Amino acid sequence: MKDVPNILWLEEIRKEDIISVGGKGASLGEMASIGLPVPKAFVVTAQAFRRFLVETGLEKKIFASYDQLDVENNEALERAADGAKAMVVKAKMPPHIKEEIRKAYRKMSAEDLIVAVRSSATAEDLPDASFAGQQDTFLNIKGEDALLEAVQRCWASLYGARAIYYRAKQGFDDHTVNIAVVVQQLVHSEKAGVMFTSHPITGEPLTIIEGSWGLGEAVVSGSVSPDKYVFDQRSEKVIDTLISNKKVEIVADGDHGTKLLNITGPRQDARVLTDEEISKLGMYGKIAEDHYGIPQDVEWGIVKGTIYILQSRPITTIGNRKEAKSSSGQSNSARILIQGQGAAPGIASGNVVIIRDAKDTGKVKAGDILVTKMTNPDMVPAMRKVAAIVTDEGGLTCHAAIVSRELGTPAVVGTKTATSVLTNGQLVTVDGEKGNVYEGVIEVPAKQAQAIPAAVAASPVITATLVKVNVSIPEAAARAAATGADGVGLLRIEHLILGLNKTPGWFIANNKEEDFVRELHDGIKIVLDAFPGKPVWVRTLDAPTDEFRNMMGGENEPHEHNPMLGWRGIRRDLQSPEQFRLQIESFKRLWKEGYENLGIMFPMVSHPDEFVAAKALMKTYGVDVEKVTLGIMIEIPASAIMIEDFIKCGIRFASFGTNDLVQYTLAIDRNNENVADMYQPQHPAVLHLIHSAIQMCRAYDVECSICGQAGSDPKMAMWLVEHGISSISANIDAIAKIREAVARTVKRIILEAARIRDAE
Ligand code: PEP
Ligand code: MG
Repeated sequence: MKDVPNILWLEEIRKEDIISVGGKGASLGEMASIGLPVPKAFVVTAQAFRRFLVETGLEKKIFASYDQLDVENNEALERAADGAKAMVVKAKMPPHIKEEIRKAYRKMSAEDLIVAVRSSATAEDLPDASFAGQQDTFLNIKGEDALLEAVQRCWASLYGARAIYYRAKQGFDDHTVNIAVVVQQLVHSEKAGVMFTSHPITGEPLTIIEGSWGLGEAVVSGSVSPDKYVFDQRSEKVIDTLISNKKVEIVADGDHGTKLLNITGPRQDARVLTDEEISKLGMYGKIAEDHYGIPQDVEWGIVKGTIYILQSRPITTIGNRKEAKSSSGQSNSARILIQGQGAAPGIASGNVVIIRDAKDTGKVKAGDILVTKMTNPDMVPAMRKVAAIVTDEGGLTCHAAIVSRELGTPAVVGTKTATSVLTNGQLVTVDGEKGNVYEGVIEVPAKQAQAIPAAVAASPVITATLVKVNVSIPEAAARAAATGADGVGLLRIEHLILGLNKTPGWFIANNKEEDFVRELHDGIKIVLDAFPGKPVWVRTLDAPTDEFRNMMGGENEPHEHNPMLGWRGIRRDLQSPEQFRLQIESFKRLWKEGYENLGIMFPMVSHPDEFVAAKALMKTYGVDVEKVTLGIMIEIPASAIMIEDFIKCGIRFASFGTNDLVQYTLAIDRNNENVADMYQPQHPAVLHLIHSAIQMCRAYDVECSICGQAGSDPKMAMWLVEHGISSISANIDAIAKIREAVARTVKRIILEAARIRDAE
């Protein structure tokens, strides 16, 4: 907590700073670092917000104020939210934070710069868990005082009704969700909008761009039906253009806020983007997607021909269609009442309830069809209950459409006239894939055809060398499983624990061991359930002390000169047996529940004695160590060199953690950009260690794998297959290409062997 300043500039931020700057801030920092045109900005960090809560004494008061809240009770929810927000807005910001914000603002420009002030919740933008639109944004803020007020209002919006509701429903612990505030030069866009770098439902490489006149808020909030363009990344051509009738635009309103204007005359039906602009946006989208390794949802704006990228976050729903249902054949003959864009797949029938004001959402009952002018994040509590959603306005990429996809609620948006054509109480069927609303109930076949996840469809190859997947957050388990991977080669539990925002030591010191064990158990179980019958190797805790520092209990973490070489991995667990025991306790429960596919992997081992000691401790905790699968990471040259001794001590598998193995072999800090170009996983010394360890594992028939980033590089994968590795565990996005590389290499080896045989 002490170490992270109140203010961080965009240039200083990397994605690893997500805990301090939120998803939005981290993503902007990353984008700036790869040269995308991001307007200048600084972030008021989550730590500044925490300091504000602590120093004003609000921390305890706020949570106590809605501790017993039933979030399904609309009135109580609104009351609790209003109370909590008022506390934050009325509190006096500590002078040191105030002064730093003022100073940063002055540093941005000699004159008062017009800025956008955006909230960025720090669990935000995780794949599969979008907080889209849950917190506030203030546009067109000018002057230090207005800025300070906007920052405080952003903080307050963490306790808005929809935000509290959404977090409760998604299982986030409110005590641990923080908020950072991004202060960014406002781009007075002449035209703006959003883009999905790949198709949000099928995952195809089709970039979908929605754009309209004025600031992007009009598109994002669904106030306007935007133009829609489809850019094919394969042919690099615009393959579809849909020009909409654009009735309104949002523009800056003097020094304060924004205003909604009617668009008149030919601009209403004029095309917003040129082909050249679409191609450029498509290119930026691809750069962002390649960099993050996952399709992005990007906001952009254009001023005098210059494109700005305003924010980017992962699309949350590709391959995650648990509720998705395909349309029935019978729907073809049914009467279509109204059509729009299919925004969230699935089919549902129910009675129409038309909502003209978010305040009326109390009328909505479970199973209704919510019909409204525009989808709006304020309606999330109602959206959760209803069977489907239909709107007059809005596009595929408006925030509420994203949320409805994540909630798994079928949605059709942009119908233009649903609120006037449909009537209250009318029985209808909504097809969220085709974008149709039918009269009456349409029969849907009992067994729904499951949507084919994009990654699997792209790569139906079966390989002899197993291709597994790495998982870091349980929310990604479904997407990971959808790749068809042969198991999980690395489940890092650090992210699960970092998400709790309390160190293991805090749980122990506060007698909350059971909470820790349960959280760990529940998180791992999600992943195990996604991979039935396939091996899932869970790694025991490996977080360097500096990563724990910002969490509750982090003040007790030692200050280490070099945390990378410090108290982490198995060496720390062996010296903190209580911390180790709690992890083992959660594994024990899972084994007891029948998850025999759970294997345990020890990180940062440097001597077989450590493996033996860990195994002995597990035995004292009641684990039948000869029955369960235990293995090690090879991250330290010592463990590669001594692999035969490890094998003799009974490891069942070994997995190369090349991220560390490279840094420890070459003495190159993996996080230091000054020496980044010397960080070479294919350095002969690294390959030598890997090669000799693979040979030893083969000789003893012990599974040898890789779970470091190098395993997601097809070239490295080919080399590893040639040298006899048993399995490769790659990132979700890399599975298809790694599987292809592995298959090709295996075929080549077989062919070469056959040719040699023929020649003999
Ligand atoms: C590695 O070191 O390669 C590895 C997978 O572990 P981490 O990146 O978590 O250190
Ligand atoms: Mg490592």
